[in-house]
Amino acid sequence: MTMDVTFLGTGSAYPSLHRGASALVLRSEGDCWLFDCGEGTQTQLMKSHIRAGRISKVFISHLHGDHLFGLPGLLCTISLNLTSDPQPGVKCVDVFGPRGLRHFLRVTLGLTGSQLLFPYAVHELEPTQDQSPEEGQLSLEMTTERGPPLPQEHPGRNISLDVSSDAYLLFEDDKFVVKAFRLFHRVPSFGFCVHERDRPGRLKTERLQQLGLKPGPLYGRLKAGHRVQLENGRVILPDEVVEENIPGRKVCILGDCSSVPGGGLAICQGADLLVHEATLGEAHRDKAVEHGHSTPRMAATLARACGARRLVLYHFSQRYKPEKLRGDGDDDVSELRLQAEEVLRDADVEVILAEDFLTIDIPLRRTKSST
Ligand SMILES: [Zn+2]
Ligand SMILES: [Zn+2]
Repeated sequence: MTMDVTFLGTGSAYPSLHRGASALVLRSEGDCWLFDCGEGTQTQLMKSHIRAGRISKVFISHLHGDHLFGLPGLLCTISLNLTSDPQPGVKCVDVFGPRGLRHFLRVTLGLTGSQLLFPYAVHELEPTQDQSPEEGQLSLEMTTERGPPLPQEHPGRNISLDVSSDAYLLFEDDKFVVKAFRLFHRVPSFGFCVHERDRPGRLKTERLQQLGLKPGPLYGRLKAGHRVQLENGRVILPDEVVEENIPGRKVCILGDCSSVPGGGLAICQGADLLVHEATLGEAHRDKAVEHGHSTPRMAATLARACGARRLVLYHFSQRYKPEKLRGDGDDDVSELRLQAEEVLRDADVEVILAEDFLTIDIPLRRTKSST
């Protein structure tokens, strides 16, 4: 039941010697999901403890190069590694992102003659007009794919905003519900919410033994929420012998933005981890907003409004070197943490500055019965 997030790139605009371009991986029980894939992500992966070949889903927040230029190369390298270590029954890699992403991959992989040894599908999110200034709205001509699909390209879905929830349902299974929500940036940008489903609580084995029930299939039935009748006629209700549900964790990862229009605030309510950009400090707030970006205070205001437990700041301007590499006269990244903390002074929210290769564990929430 472990879950963690590893940052592969925490800088904005371009990869530098001290910060890679945007990319992070969410791991949960062996599943690796990549969020954004700036240039150089594959070499960052090689330096990390995460194996690129385990990535099964990719989420791209928006089409700016510092979030996307690394994707064709990464897919090709995953494919090359399959040649030397063939794995039967390779699964389709699902790629989610804004409209235009399917066209981008078809052109970059097609023109370079890159033939992947695994299937992939691009599921496109249809932006709305209030996600960017008019000049950032890409034309249908620029974003529509043409010609036949590539040999390994499986059909992807076109996902529109669900007006009732003000969100995009990307997928759901027995473990997770994953949604996207709209952000305002120079081009349409999205945030992603990974919400783990609640799990049934632990069995109270002592109580079960008192009732004379031995370990076996009936334990499973009770845990699954069914009542069970003993031979003596006694009916056992799940509530008697199962501890309360273990609440699922919620991780929200936002792409570049200067505001969150629509349903994002509601979707991020109670997030265990809120990952938010803070490109520039408060002294450069006007410039940040002009370029569709946020300051730490803006990020902290959202974290406060949605009751997040922890706020991670990332996507720093390359002017902010990591704390341990800062030289005389360099901008001080720790100032950014203080600026966020000021907004959260009387709120119980931890502020974390992301650095490349930082891994953050997301523990299960403690229920009353586990404390
Ligand atoms: Zn960016
Ligand atoms: Zn951007």
